Amino acid sequence: MNQALLVIDMLNDFVREGAVLEVPETRTILPALRARLAEARRTGVPVLFLCDAHASDDREFSRMGWPPHALRGSVGARVIDELAPRPEERIVEKTSYSGFAGTALDGILKELGVTDLVLTGCVTNICVLYTAADAVMRGYRVTVPVDAVAALDEADGAFALRQMEQVLGVRVLR
Ligand code: ZN
Repeated sequence: MNQALLVIDMLNDFVREGAVLEVPETRTILPALRARLAEARRTGVPVLFLCDAHASDDREFSRMGWPPHALRGSVGARVIDELAPRPEERIVEKTSYSGFAGTALDGILKELGVTDLVLTGCVTNICVLYTAADAVMRGYRVTVPVDAVAALDEADGAFALRQMEQVLGVRVLR
């Protein structure tokens, strides 16, 4: 088993109080996520940050009705200070829900020899779910610790966890 820890969208625009796309639960999961991050760093597990990075006219805004968020290069698009990536840790910018769509993620993971992914961050039923789906389709084994993922809506989050567990074969740690 060769594991990597993926930290998804723990950006100022999602985490901070009053942020444009605030997901309040991201602040609840922070202690558990920080502990996982520290453990990965301590044991040499590669850490990758999957980060929304949109152009101001990104079609995601008009098509899905999201308010403009995580504009590339803005403070809002930056990983929160509490989880600040280290220089050797990769930041993979994405413009859609899956960390694999239109990014170099798959190649980076293959280069690292990674076979198992632990997904953390937000939003459970959006970027976590679709990244998990793409990862499973590509043959990765996926684990999602419930205490380290955040949803906007409890029922949506619970649905996504069930979907991952029962349909995708994700190991959901409760
Ligand atoms: Zn986005």
